[in-house]
Amino acid sequence: MEGAALDDVSTGSDSDYSKYWIDWFLNTKGNEYFCEVDEDYILDRFNLTGLNAEVQHYYLEALDMITDNLDEDSLDEKVRDEIDKVARHLYGLIHARFVITTRGLAKMLDKYKKAEFGRCPRVLCNLQPLLPVGLSDIPMNKTVKLYCPRCEDIYNPKSSRHATIDGAYFGTSVPHMLFQVHPSYLPTKSGDRYVPRIFGFKVHDIAEQHRWQDRARESYEEKIREERKRLEN
Ligand SMILES: [Zn+2]
Repeated sequence: MEGAALDDVSTGSDSDYSKYWIDWFLNTKGNEYFCEVDEDYILDRFNLTGLNAEVQHYYLEALDMITDNLDEDSLDEKVRDEIDKVARHLYGLIHARFVITTRGLAKMLDKYKKAEFGRCPRVLCNLQPLLPVGLSDIPMNKTVKLYCPRCEDIYNPKSSRHATIDGAYFGTSVPHMLFQVHPSYLPTKSGDRYVPRIFGFKVHDIAEQHRWQDRARESYEEKIREERKRLEN
């Protein structure tokens, strides 16, 4: 390892090239929502059951790339790029399975505690940290959204880099499973609601006043009509 580090220094190349594919992936701008899937989780083929059906080709090569077992020097650039594309998709699919395991939930909780998924834009949620959530577990269907456990609503990620991430890489269950396993992190719901006002008066009250005035006018007009009828007869 020391020798490798020295080599990097002496050649001065590969400065921002990580030796580990997962490190590289996680450090790529826009991938901040993803957590690190444990290597032994990926190496246990039982966990990946059925995923080979999700990619057209290069499944094994992509898996080797993710676990740094692919001899990339023997590949031409086009093939390498193709495998890299499959690897990123595959990592997302593995990620969706991993984040609902005990280890995965703990990692997502860590990121949630640091508000790495951002905070609820709703004023009355008082900067409540958010959690990523998918609206579908089927890939290439819906992009990822952010769930606020205080107002129980979902929001679009602010950055377009995050807004285009496949929601299936997180799945529909993460936030809800997280709070089931770690209920102490569920924020207390407040009954605070924004009340629309016009010059300090609740809009509702103003509307109520208007309705009352309308009713009063109607009954007054009705009275006049009756009075007229009575006089005519
Ligand atoms: Zn909220």
